[in-house]
Amino acid sequence: MPSYTGLDFYEIDELLSEEERMIRDTVRSFVSDEVIPIIEKHNRAATFPVNLIPKMGELGLLGANIHGYGCAGLSHTSYGLIMQELERGDSGLRSFVSVQGALCMYPILTFGSEQQKEAWLPRMARGEAIGCFGLTEPDHGSDPGGMETRARRDGKGFVLNGNKSWITNGSIADVAVVWAKDDAGTVRGFLVEKGTPGFTTRDITGKFALKASVTSELAFQDCRIPEQNLLPGTTGLKSALMCLTQARYGIAWGAVGAAQAVFDEACGYAKARTQFNRPIGSFQLVQQKLAWMATEITKAQLLALRLGRMKDAGSARPHQVSMAKMNNVWMALECARLGRDVLGANGTHDEYQVGRHMCNLEAVKTYEGTHDIHVLVVGEALTGLAAYA
Ligand code: FAD
Repeated sequence: MPSYTGLDFYEIDELLSEEERMIRDTVRSFVSDEVIPIIEKHNRAATFPVNLIPKMGELGLLGANIHGYGCAGLSHTSYGLIMQELERGDSGLRSFVSVQGALCMYPILTFGSEQQKEAWLPRMARGEAIGCFGLTEPDHGSDPGGMETRARRDGKGFVLNGNKSWITNGSIADVAVVWAKDDAGTVRGFLVEKGTPGFTTRDITGKFALKASVTSELAFQDCRIPEQNLLPGTTGLKSALMCLTQARYGIAWGAVGAAQAVFDEACGYAKARTQFNRPIGSFQLVQQKLAWMATEITKAQLLALRLGRMKDAGSARPHQVSMAKMNNVWMALECARLGRDVLGANGTHDEYQVGRHMCNLEAVKTYEGTHDIHVLVVGEALTGLAAYA
């Protein structure tokens, strides 16, 4: 049983199976023992803790909800609990696992040939091969349909030209799932392997969010892709969006973990820190902040769990995933801001976690569909009227 137990104000543990609690506790211990002690150092140095990748593979965390091909074959709810625990450590770590599983292994599984699945999935599950997902371009973020990257048919293969930006794991990836328009203007997915002539990467430096995560630009200049590297099942932008729905599901859970981390730190600090000869936790205004955080975390836990159960039953819809991503990341970011406030000046220093989570969550609010784009997805589901353009 891990020493950290997390906030469970509504006895949500009772709604989990014994197996789900065991998986959650295993990842919780891994994060307490191997992530928390090193993460600030990596965040300060802006490096990703690559040494954790083999261990995450051993624990079955990579592509954990994929069945077969050496993957753990867990339920979507168990997968969500894994994301929650990883993001308690750091959003960068959860991003790595999200991209590997939901944005690279999932498209290979769903749209790939048998040969592609055999070639990549077992190695990726073990952490021996790393993946990334290239959709965003310098001039096309929220509207990926406007992408300029082109895959021109040339004999038996394709020639790729274009640029992708803000790509998690970009420079450390062995394989990139790259989205490009073919000669007919249809968006297709391609597997671009590291070292392919004409494919280069450059890391984005100077981030104040997700510092312990690799973010890169990908460039393709007359990059020749063999026919067998086309993901044959991709049939348009909706294929890429299906991957994003998988990843957003994980984010909805992960945000709960980040919020739990900041609540835990803020509550502990409020009980220990004295001002005016009293613990600051005895002041009504501080209690109001803690009560708000605990209430919102509890609501977000229930939302994530219900979504997980629906996903396991095969009934979760993309707009429901959008609501959970939108709400839970907003909630976590507000908790992080309040937690930072409760810690006073110390909340601005990386000796404490609140500031790191707060900065990370600003990026999480933007990526995988911005908060406002998810508002519009929910609005469209409610009214039947699209308000994007
Ligand atoms: P824009 O689309 O330019 O949006 C700017 C603002 O305008 C936002 O507030 C947005 O909500 C608003 N806006 C845009 N359109 C509308 C509209 N119709 N109505 C109302 N408001 C609107 N991408 C990948 O492909 N792969 C990755 O691995 C990846 N990793 C990332 C990692 C990090 C750390 C970050 C920061 C980003 C990553 N991204 C990745 C990119 C991310 O998905 C995009 O940043 C995101 O989709 C938003 O695009 P944008 O930044 O171009 O913002």
